[in-house]
Order: sequence, then C-alpha cells, then structure tokens
Amino acid sequence: MRITTVVIGAGHAGLAMSRCLTDRSIDHVVLERGEVANSWKTERWDSLRLLTPNWQSRLPGYGYQGDEPDGFRTMPETIDFIERYADVISAPVQTNTRVTSVRPGDDGYEIATDQGDWRCRTVVIATGACNIPRIPAVAEGVPSTISTLTPMEYRNPGQLEEGGVLVVGASASGTQIADEVHRSGRPVTLAVGEHIRAPRVYRGRDIKWWMDGAGVLDERYDEIDNIVRARNVPSLQLVGSDDRRDLDLNRLTDIGVKLVGRLAGVRNGKAQFSGSLPNQCAMSDLKMNRLLDRIDEWATENSLDGEVDPAHRFEPTRVEAVPPLDMDLGRIRTILWATGFRPDYSWLDLAVLDRKGRIRHDGGVVESPGVYLMGMPFLRSRKSSLIDGAGDDARYLSSHLASYLDHAITRPGLAVRTA
Ligand SMILES: Cc1cc2nc3c(=O)[nH]c(=O)nc-3n(C[C@H](O)[C@H](O)[C@H](O)COP(=O)(O)OP(=O)(O)OC[C@H]3O[C@@H](n4cnc5c(N)ncnc54)[C@H](O)[C@@H]3O)c2cc1C
Repeated sequence: MRITTVVIGAGHAGLAMSRCLTDRSIDHVVLERGEVANSWKTERWDSLRLLTPNWQSRLPGYGYQGDEPDGFRTMPETIDFIERYADVISAPVQTNTRVTSVRPGDDGYEIATDQGDWRCRTVVIATGACNIPRIPAVAEGVPSTISTLTPMEYRNPGQLEEGGVLVVGASASGTQIADEVHRSGRPVTLAVGEHIRAPRVYRGRDIKWWMDGAGVLDERYDEIDNIVRARNVPSLQLVGSDDRRDLDLNRLTDIGVKLVGRLAGVRNGKAQFSGSLPNQCAMSDLKMNRLLDRIDEWATENSLDGEVDPAHRFEPTRVEAVPPLDMDLGRIRTILWATGFRPDYSWLDLAVLDRKGRIRHDGGVVESPGVYLMGMPFLRSRKSSLIDGAGDDARYLSSHLASYLDHAITRPGLAVRTA
C-alpha cells in the first residue's frame, strides 16, 4: 500500500502529529502495535495518576473539558482522554499492526508490518521514549532467591512477597512505588542516586503552574548549554494526589523508608552503596532552590506577589551523615529497578542511530530526509516528553514535513542513507 506519511505509534504524540497532518491535508496512517494508548493500558501500575494537572494536557484541537482542572488523572481517565482524542480528530489508526522494519525505498521508505507492507514518502516515529526498562549491570549479582521487577511489570504491592523490598532509583516512579509498597507493610529501602526534588505546591499554586508560567517548560533544545545532559535529567519527585502531598525523601523518611546511596554493586549476598547520598541530596536541594528563585523572580516581575502566598524555602533533605555503605540482602525479598527507561529501535533499519542507540536528530528532524521523531525528552523543549509538549512539536514538525514534501516534489529521488 502507498501513502504519503506513516506515523508509527498511537500514543498522544502520534495522535497529535496525526491531527496536524490532517490540518495540512497530508494523507497518512497511524500504525499501532496494540491499541490506542497502548503504553498507558499495558505498562503502568494500578494506582498511578498523572503528575501533571488536568489542565496541562493540551493537545492540538483538544484539551481538558471537566470541572477539575487542577486534579490529576487516574490511569482509566488518562486512557479515556487519549482514546477520545483519537475519536475527536478521526485519527486514521490501524491497530494491532506492529512495524517490524523501516528501510529506504525508491521514493521514500518501505515499512514492513505484521499486517502487510507500506510505501511512503515520509515517516514519523512516535513509538515512545519508555519502551524498555533500563536495568543496571549490577543486577547480574543479585541472588536468585530475590525476585526482581521493573515499574512496567509492577501493578500493586499485593503482587510482591511479604518481606523487605529494595527500590533502586528515586525519581517519580521509584519514590511513588517506594511510598505505596512501604505503606503495604513491606519495609522499603530506597537506593538514591541523582534525583530532582520539587514541592507539589509552592506559594499556594501547583509547581507545574509555576513552571508553565515562568517559561521553564518552554526552554528550547537549541538554547540549552548541554542538551545531551538535559535529555537525561531524571523526572521530578512528584505524585498526583487529591491531597496534593509532596513526595520527597523527607516524606519517605517520615513513614519509615530507609534511604541509602546509589546502588554500586551486589556481591556475596550483599548490596553495596555509594557514599554520595548526602551530596546527592544537597545538590538536589540546591537545584530545587534555584528553581524556586526563578519562580520568585517571575512572580515579582509579573506583579503576582500580592496574589500568592509569600516566598519561603523548604527544610533541607534529612540524611544520615554517614549512611550505610552496604546491606545484607538476607531480609530483601524483592528488588524493584526504578532506574529509567529507553526506547526500542530494533525495528529501524536506517543509519540514524548513534553509538548509544539514540536517533540522531535536530529537534525531531531526523538525519534521514523525510523522517521525524516525536515524544522524546527535550526533543524541542523541556516539555516535549509531556502530553502538553506534543502540540508545539507536532505543529513545527508537520510544517517541516510539509515543506519537505513540497521540496521533494520539485526534486524527486532525494537520496536517503542506507543502514
Ligand atoms: C510512569 C510514567 C508516568 C508518566 N507520567 C506523565 C504525566 O504525569 N504527565 C505527562 O504529561 N507525561 C507523563 N509521562 C510521560 C509520557 O506522557 C509518556 O511516556 C507517554 O506515554 C509518551 O507518549 P508517546 O505518545 O510519546 O509514547 P507512548 O504513549 O508510549 O506511545 C507509543 C506507541 O507506539 C507503539 N509502538 C511502539 N513500537 C511500535 C512498533 N514497532 N509498531 C507499532 N507501534 C509501536 C506503542 O504500542 C505505543 O502505543 C509518564 C511516563 C511514564 C513512563
């Protein structure tokens, strides 16, 4: 089958692009290996709620329509939101169609799927940034008596054996799961590496409201000193809940979670931790205060000081001066690797991957002409990986794609590099 554009992936990013292509009358299909919103349906835990408020899911031609703009969507609500979006924009999604290869063709690209092949001029890769959990090499030393799992497999505490749990990683997933598991009566030890602390509410407003208003989320990829580093920054320690509670390390210490440093090794039934915990926490507090300074400056510049609560700072993270450097794993029944995710491009037969397996691109414009990328951290701005960031990226990249098609019509047979 022949079509102008194939979009791969029917998450919010692929759908936002679909809407923008429709606006430009570019014929396209969205190929999805599962169903619309597949990742939210199959890869998330039961209690997860979005950590971005309801108002902050603005997609091209669609947004929050309920009466709780400051609430946080549950998983069923998130799935419903994305499914409705697909309906409202009449996205041409072909579900249960797994793309198994993308390779250069005579006049563009050949897309092989388990439901037949497509030929197209342009391709949009919207297959998500979180396809495969990253598990550190030290996992090899874990005794076989200990169960291990990742946030993609975790559903709820009832799935875990009774007994101690070591959660490795203290970003959004790690802190949320550590909180839930510890409250279930399974004592949690949390191995803390680099993390980003943020309060849920500051000066009476949600932190995301401040970050949106102060322009933090709009910072562009080409204005950042170290974009490689910025693309690897961990997620904020936040949770979406009705009581708008914080989920920082102090909160976890208060309920009895034991904090240790970054997991450095597992040998002879013992876990070894880095001694950097106090430094990591001090660094995280410093970065949080820098963010709050920026917010305060913005509030003053915009004459908001009279409308919001006074500026203040939070208690520094409490840690033992000399945290333990090792721990006998005898009482640990489960290790949960909350150590991040990576995309899967095993099906991509184009010479566009760098030595770390990342797609080489300039703000979503992939090195192979006519190929575009969506939904990656800091693709074009700090909000690119959020639902709220897909709109701006899709608008820009669909416009680039349309120009490419115009250009390619006048210059047929533009060269594409082969793998
Ligand atoms: C735990 C967690 C919590 C998050 N919380 C928030 C939040 O609160 N707010 C927020 O804005 N963002 C949040 N995000 C970030 C982001 O919104 C999600 O990662 C989102 O799912 C990314 O959307 P996407 O469309 O880029 O990718 P996905 O939703 O992952 O969609 C990609 C689609 O591509 C399909 N696909 C993959 N490979 C193929 C193939 N070979 N062939 C065909 N189809 C394929 C997949 O099945 C999937 O449906 C969270 C992410 C995670 C992991």
